[in-house]
Amino acid sequence: MEPTYSPVLSVVIPMYNEEDVIELLVARLRPVLDGTGQPYEVVAVDDGSRDATAQILLGVRRTWSQLRVIKLRSNRGHQAALTAGMHRARGAYVASIDADLQDPPEKIAEMLDLAQRENLDIVYGVRNDRTTDSFFKRWTAGLYYKLMRRIVGQNVPSQAGDFRLLSRATVDALQQLPEDKPVYRLLVPWTGFPSGEVHYAREERAAGSSKYPLSKMVKLAFDSIASFSAAPLRLATWFGGIGVVVCVLMLLLTMGMYVAGETVPGWASMFVAMFFLGAVQLVCLGLLGEYVGRIYAAVKNRPMYYIGHDSLDEPRVIASDDAVELDVAAVR
Ligand code: UDP
Ligand code: MG
Repeated sequence: MEPTYSPVLSVVIPMYNEEDVIELLVARLRPVLDGTGQPYEVVAVDDGSRDATAQILLGVRRTWSQLRVIKLRSNRGHQAALTAGMHRARGAYVASIDADLQDPPEKIAEMLDLAQRENLDIVYGVRNDRTTDSFFKRWTAGLYYKLMRRIVGQNVPSQAGDFRLLSRATVDALQQLPEDKPVYRLLVPWTGFPSGEVHYAREERAAGSSKYPLSKMVKLAFDSIASFSAAPLRLATWFGGIGVVVCVLMLLLTMGMYVAGETVPGWASMFVAMFFLGAVQLVCLGLLGEYVGRIYAAVKNRPMYYIGHDSLDEPRVIASDDAVELDVAAVR
């Protein structure tokens, strides 16, 4: 049975076919966590790996009792594995880190220290040097963050991936969001809770190869856009509007050509009708999109605000003649 203690820190690590890296990861992570002197747990989530990831983890667990291994039945992707880990983490703070050591585990201690000292809900790991990533990865990442700041708002720190530390309150708030495909690097800044940053240089993958092919990057980008914006639905309206303008211009043109006698019989009417119908269809699709967009926003039903502190929850102090005593009834 799992021990029932509640740790101060949980470290969630999604892993997909990471057999080559586990040993290196443990060698670096364990001294850091032991060094914090606080009770902790490591939640390794095996995202349906097809290699020996789970077996190796279970082997390590024999000598490292703070390591928990959660095995998903099939590969659900990075964000889903992260979600599983965060839901099950028990810590007062929950850190998340990739398995491949591109983000230095040593920074977790710094994050925890910063969060506890300054009473922060979120500490982002921000990479200020990505020279180890390929040019293509850096370029697409730059584009991604620029777009996300426009859609989600200015508090999305650029170059902050999924290396971060969250307070229990933040984890609970995220868990209550009705997202079917949560993209944490956007949802976390969306909460707008008090946050700090820890900077580091991104390292090379310690072993193994990237589990994020282009197809998964595109999927993440689309989930990001679709979970925060109905803008793509509005494209049809724009095309429809442009279609109407083009249709009017064509109408004038074909009428001119018709009058000048430069057309084959039937061409003018066919041509205009084709444009007209196309434009009408796009406008209708756009209208539909507007409604679908509103329904989508309503169905998501994200809460409007979070209460950080309410003075009503404080023990009320009542002044009596010469002593100040606690109103016990008000505390409940
Ligand atoms: N990962 C996962 N499921 C997947 C793909 C990736 O759990 O389907 C994990 C992977 O094991 C790693 C993290 O997500 O811990 C980030 O993946 P990776 O380092 O390959 O991505 P990159 O750094 O290349 O963007
Ligand atoms: Mg990586």
